[in-house]
Amino acid sequence: MDFVLSTEHEVLKKSVRDFAEKEIKPLAIELDKREEFSYDTMKAMANLGLFGMFVSEEYDGQGMDYVGYIIATEEIARVDGSHAATIAAGNSLGIGPIYYYGNEEQKRKYLPKACRGETLWAFGLTETHTGSDTGNMQTTAVLDGDEWVINGSKIFISNGSTDITAGVVALTKTGTRDDGRPELTSIIVERGTPGFEAKTMHGKLMWRSSNTSELYFADCRVPKENLLGLIGHGFDHMLGTLDGARLSIAAMSLGGAQGAFELALKYSKERVQSGKPISSFQVNTFKLADMATEIECARLLLYKACWLRDNEQSFGKHAAMAKLYCSEVMGRCVNHSVQFHGGYGLMKEYDVERFYRDHKLLEIGEGTSEVQRIVISRIIDEV
Ligand SMILES: Cc1cc2nc3c(=O)[nH]c(=O)nc-3n(C[C@H](O)[C@H](O)[C@H](O)COP(=O)(O)OP(=O)(O)OC[C@H]3O[C@@H](n4cnc5c(N)ncnc54)[C@H](O)[C@@H]3O)c2cc1C
Repeated sequence: MDFVLSTEHEVLKKSVRDFAEKEIKPLAIELDKREEFSYDTMKAMANLGLFGMFVSEEYDGQGMDYVGYIIATEEIARVDGSHAATIAAGNSLGIGPIYYYGNEEQKRKYLPKACRGETLWAFGLTETHTGSDTGNMQTTAVLDGDEWVINGSKIFISNGSTDITAGVVALTKTGTRDDGRPELTSIIVERGTPGFEAKTMHGKLMWRSSNTSELYFADCRVPKENLLGLIGHGFDHMLGTLDGARLSIAAMSLGGAQGAFELALKYSKERVQSGKPISSFQVNTFKLADMATEIECARLLLYKACWLRDNEQSFGKHAAMAKLYCSEVMGRCVNHSVQFHGGYGLMKEYDVERFYRDHKLLEIGEGTSEVQRIVISRIIDEV
């Protein structure tokens, strides 16, 4: 076993941390208040190489391993959840399916711009009546001559309606399998295709400066070549994409927990009550000790899951465990951290207030905590 980060990972961690502290932290509170997706910080993140991180260099990716991608996501989340969401969704949900399931022509056409951060792609799975129960989706695609005709809608789709969104990989129902279950197929829909409309959703509790959208398909026709992978393989694409995406949600949770812990540590040393810093009261020292311990456990679990993935071993159970555990650790850390800040922790001028809100989705998106427990129990015997 080797618990030491490689020199490459250390350099990456430091450069992303410096960038996040300098370029994102000072803007995060205002962007959150204004519910604004920043194209300037998007461009800066792209220039730093935060898109296409696990994609090979032949498609203009960074050619890194998954540990590297996760460390970078964690460091952005340490200062802001919304920016981390843009990166996690841009890489795992947007770029991932095209890279892993696309044919050569599709990869050459879409990946270089996405990996340079000039475009964003979205992954459309969730529908109004179909969240956890993905098999029940209603969006259909019917082959009519040389075109797929898509009808239906998607909701809560990350990066689906920014000015630089190039399109979506939509999960559609294309028929019924022999066993009676729906046949799911992934289809690429480019922005600007007639019959395809994307609308930004407003009024979110959390990730307020990230982009979330509703997508509508009304007799939307795309060439039959826009099929991603094979007909009927959509379910596998969904599972594969979500396994990877869960690691990035775990990274966001770990980074958020780390950020909340550091805010608590700093504030508790500065805040004096009854003549002493509040950090000197044992009840608070113990809380800090618990936070630090849980963060360490969360990091070990997440990095192990990434290591399994990088070493081409089965990692689905560990990805679900990491997503479940890291998001719940962040929940406990943000709760403690706001408590340390007292009344100030409830005010929007304090970063910890945003961390507290940003946390909640991490127990819901990419499969809720309940769904993670179902996934883990189904494969609990797997080594
Ligand atoms: C900001 C944001 C960004 C998102 N980005 C994307 C995206 O890019 N692409 C995408 O496709 N989706 C995206 N989502 C959707 C997200 O993945 C879903 O919200 C999530 O999967 C849960 O689905 P739901 O909201 O319909 O809840 P439901 O599935 O209706 O669940 C409601 C409650 O019931 C519980 N429940 C459901 N089924 C079971 C069961 N079998 N056993 C026990 N409990 C159960 C759940 O755990 C939950 O507590 C995003 C959501 C948000 C809010």
